Amino acid sequence: MKDPVLIAGGGPVGIIAALALARRGISVRVFEAGGSVNDAPRASTLHPSTLEMLASIGLIDDVIARGVVARTFQFWDRPTGRMIAEFDHAALREDTPYPFVVQCEQHKLAKLGIERLRSYPHAEVNFSSQVIAVDPSEDGVKITIKTGTRREVVAGGYLIGADGGRSTVRKATGIDFVGYTFPERFLVLTTPFDFATERGAAFRSYFSDPEEWANLFKVAGEDGSGLWRAVFPTLPGQTDDDVLGADAVEARLQTFFPKPGPYRIFHRNIYRVHQRVAAHFRKGRVFLAGDSAHVNNPIGGLGLNCGIHDAIQLAGLLAAVVLGERPNADLALYDQTRRPINIEYVQQQTIANKKRLEEKEPAAREANFAFLRKTAADPKMQRAFLMRTSLLDSVRRQPATS
Ligand SMILES: Cc1cc2nc3c(=O)[nH]c(=O)nc-3n(C[C@H](O)[C@H](O)[C@H](O)COP(=O)(O)OP(=O)(O)OC[C@H]3O[C@@H](n4cnc5c(N)ncnc54)[C@H](O)[C@@H]3O)c2cc1C
Repeated sequence: MKDPVLIAGGGPVGIIAALALARRGISVRVFEAGGSVNDAPRASTLHPSTLEMLASIGLIDDVIARGVVARTFQFWDRPTGRMIAEFDHAALREDTPYPFVVQCEQHKLAKLGIERLRSYPHAEVNFSSQVIAVDPSEDGVKITIKTGTRREVVAGGYLIGADGGRSTVRKATGIDFVGYTFPERFLVLTTPFDFATERGAAFRSYFSDPEEWANLFKVAGEDGSGLWRAVFPTLPGQTDDDVLGADAVEARLQTFFPKPGPYRIFHRNIYRVHQRVAAHFRKGRVFLAGDSAHVNNPIGGLGLNCGIHDAIQLAGLLAAVVLGERPNADLALYDQTRRPINIEYVQQQTIANKKRLEEKEPAAREANFAFLRKTAADPKMQRAFLMRTSLLDSVRRQPATS
């Protein structure tokens, strides 16, 4: 048996990488610091390009069954309450078998992957196992795992750092995380209030506003009955108490969409947002994937998608090299392709998305609206726009890995 591939982090990216490797017969050992999958509300949007990849590892039916299918998305002008444009993924029906988005919470995806991994005797997922040190060499990688008060050194052929934005693997290998952090934080409120019936909002809706932009997303929730996540920026310097208190939350939602009676809130979450890319995605036998390699604002739902694309491409390359189907030198393709793709598609697109929603200049706002209307109305332009926003363009550009 070859040395296993070690994976730091059992989030969606680490688990998808593990499953893609295990399906090719490669031994994998995942080490997750938490005691279980983190089920706080985070990413949920899975674009057509990612659905194609989930189909390739046998997860597509379960993801669709546990998520919400969102064929369209909308842009709104929040101050006037006008819908500016609606885009329909049906425009991609010649380009992909999945001309829609699925809103499936990321913890469901990780749990589905873990269930599948159980059927592979050469795969293991270890919880409460924090990677605290990395020791790479010419012919392998050793990592130190902390489990309670115990420390254990584990050896493998390669290491994938899928351990999130604060990645220990990235820091231990001395790779810089280049970019910036926004002064404002993002607030996510989860409510069962039905914005589709009450407001006519699509399951993914973006509201432009020079004072306070907003996003709305529908997810299935644990019982499938449907929940909405409303996302807002906070003001720089606002404390958690200023933003998360019951009165502040109620006032914010009533200002967004006034209604009789208070909103029921299932979850409130506030987090810091960054645009950063690792200076390298690979150093010798150590690779970075997902948030450990790149982070971005969530407008457009691209970060997790790009992370899953990393996982699938990396697993394909590693499996081919370990199985002797490709030369070692091909591992260089990972950094050579995934890093520029993240910068050109995910960083640029998410920065532009945020700018479009928060634009203050009236003439620039009108120009944005005119562009969106024209693009949605012209079939060719709509298709080109959706090929980019769904990351299909970026995937079609990358070399085949398996
Ligand atoms: C609070 C928050 C809210 C977000 N909301 C949205 C959103 O609304 N929309 C959106 O598109 N994106 C959102 N994101 C981003 C999205 O969640 C990420 O892109 C996605 O989680 C990336 O997956 P990942 O597997 O790379 O990293 P993660 O999901 O962060 O998984 C990393 C895993 O590694 C584990 N880990 C960390 N350190 C170690 C270690 N040393 N050893 C072992 N395990 C370790 C962690 O416990 C975690 O389980 C949000 C992110 C955060 C932090």
